[in-house]
Amino acid sequence: MPDLASLVTHIAAEMAKAPERGRVADYIPELAKVSPAQFGMVVITADGCEVAAGDADVAFSIQSVSKIFALVEALSRDANAVWARVGREPSGSAFNSIVQLEAEGGRPRNPFINAGAIAVTDLLSAGDDPRAGVGAILRLIRQLAGDDDIAVDGAVAYSEAASGHRNAALAHFMKAHGVIAGPVEATLSSYFHQCAIDMSCRQLARAGRFLMHGGIDPASGEAVVSPERARRINALMLTCGHYDASGEFAFRVGLPAKSGVGGGILAIAPGRASIAVWSPGLSPQGNSLLGTAALEHLAGATGWNVFNP
Ligand code: GLN
Repeated sequence: MPDLASLVTHIAAEMAKAPERGRVADYIPELAKVSPAQFGMVVITADGCEVAAGDADVAFSIQSVSKIFALVEALSRDANAVWARVGREPSGSAFNSIVQLEAEGGRPRNPFINAGAIAVTDLLSAGDDPRAGVGAILRLIRQLAGDDDIAVDGAVAYSEAASGHRNAALAHFMKAHGVIAGPVEATLSSYFHQCAIDMSCRQLARAGRFLMHGGIDPASGEAVVSPERARRINALMLTCGHYDASGEFAFRVGLPAKSGVGGGILAIAPGRASIAVWSPGLSPQGNSLLGTAALEHLAGATGWNVFNP
């Protein structure tokens, strides 16, 4: 394997000059302001070595990457309740698809599409102040990243709340089917705030370490989830983490990973590394164009791939 630091520096340099950078999400007006010129990458290996390049310490909106942490929190509270509400199948549809939800009686395919994540978030805040759900997710993320400064960007949350009509449609439809327990407005507010958490690649890679270590957070030595649950979350990330581009991502990269429309991706090489990349320009399916290219390059050069013998 090539020297990891040189490899990551080389990848970041290639990405910095890439001419085709994708399109920044503009359906959330606040995200449209982010410059697509940026690229950051952090790799933390199983032995604790941390390698960073590019805009590794610039905070960005984690958006749907938050769905991993919301799922962890909800599973810890009541796994049966989670799986009673959402499935575990790839959707093959856009992350905000309405037609599939209607065709399937209001039951979201998986916890990583918007409908599924809204249903999971509702479990965290049901009967409670909506801020309690976000607070629990933020506490978990801060603990895993070892950084109490991680916070919600209120302007991004407000911007999405003001423009999130598709998510409101999904939530109301699920409410009509009894999949959402709490008031729709409170659940949506909780969801928009969790998506608006700001993190850097360094913070995100640290927060993902437990998923490469069979559920153990190496910083504390404590189990965040059981080994079986860590395997299953990785399985869902591989099959559903990139929506209708999950198959293509598995084909090109071969690692469990979760993307967000802020341009971040958290990828896990089980037993080997926790990797965070960020570049705001997106593919038509809403996944970071250069983030995916960088992970493909890294996985190819290191041999990190869950399908390798
Ligand atoms: N907050 C975003 C939305 O609901 C998250 C989507 C994403 O990152 N894919 O549209």
